[in-house]
Amino acid sequence: MLVILVLLVIIIFVSVLNILSEILSKSKCPDASTLKRVVLGRARNSPGLVSSVQKHLGRCEKCRSKIDGIVNGAKNEMEI
Ligand SMILES: [Zn+2]
Repeated sequence: MLVILVLLVIIIFVSVLNILSEILSKSKCPDASTLKRVVLGRARNSPGLVSSVQKHLGRCEKCRSKIDGIVNGAKNEMEI
């Protein structure tokens, strides 16, 4: 009985944490340099950051529209 109770508490705790992190990542946009690093694949050494930014991009129209600018800017940098 106690085991079931503990499991329930853990499940509730994890789902609350998920909801909280969802709310936090929804309200906060990554800054321009972070976004650039992730989009250009320069943040491979921090997979947590990459996945959180990717999740954010799935929801945030504003940041998605910045990606085009970043990619074009990177192309220009390479041509110079
Ligand atoms: Zn955003």
